Amino acid sequence: MGLLDGKVALVLGVANKFSIGWAIAQALHREGARLVLTYQGERVERSVRALGETLPGTLVLPCDVNNDAQIDALFREIDAAHGGLDALVHSIAYAPTEALDGPYLHTSREAFRVALEVSAYSLTAVLQRAAPMMARRGGAAVTLTYLGGERVVPHYNVMGVAKAALEMSVRYLAADLGPHGVRVNAISAGPISTASSRAIKGFLEMAHRVAEQAPLRRATSADEVADTAVYLLSDLARGVTGEVVHVDSGYHVLGAV
Ligand code: NAD
Repeated sequence: MGLLDGKVALVLGVANKFSIGWAIAQALHREGARLVLTYQGERVERSVRALGETLPGTLVLPCDVNNDAQIDALFREIDAAHGGLDALVHSIAYAPTEALDGPYLHTSREAFRVALEVSAYSLTAVLQRAAPMMARRGGAAVTLTYLGGERVVPHYNVMGVAKAALEMSVRYLAADLGPHGVRVNAISAGPISTASSRAIKGFLEMAHRVAEQAPLRRATSADEVADTAVYLLSDLARGVTGEVVHVDSGYHVLGAV
């Protein structure tokens, strides 16, 4: 028996087999959830469809979070196929590459707008449509954040500002949706090598240092993050909302190292 037997789970933000969203999708499937995966555009459609085919019964649909019509169509299709939604995973972030190098001070108005809209506002945009489908059935949402939203991490720059906004959105959304029985939480993951993280200058060296210094003395793996997502999306976490759970080998507790 799985922790998510009979539940319908939507995972936004799978691009390839290295995506944290893909590790989460596999764990949700293992626990008995019926999955819906989305892809951002034609560039990744083939790879996401191929991954989806390895998890029987998975629906694969387009969703660019900058496009309200696509978000509306996504939830209409989920409603038609499954008649509701139990779990939502938001594993999406983007900032123009030039904003992830040099000082934060140089962030342009456009890079700030794009980073905040895609990486923070999109959680609110999808929950506006998802919440009515998740209400009164123990629905839960999880998003992915990073320590750079709490502290200054070199080169994380505007993405750190976006993660701070995302984490605060989690708290406001938890307060708004709690009365409807919907929980909203975040996982703050340690550095994991993916297409997005490798766009941050010096990422691999930084990840190596974190793994050496963290209390558990090792890097974070995507399946550790995925198992925490299973917990937060299951009834085991029925009393937990508005929380940011760190899955980072304990690195966030350290002061000067
Ligand atoms: P990834 O590149 O595999 O995933 C990022 C996803 O965002 C991609 O699937 C991409 O298609 C999607 N995306 C970007 N713009 C979009 C848009 N306009 N519409 C729809 N989708 C869009 O990288 P990842 O590391 O798996 O990132 C997933 C999440 O985990 C992100 O929020 C990231 O900030 C967070 N995170 C990553 C790490 C890490 O070290 N990799 C650590 C902490 C948090």
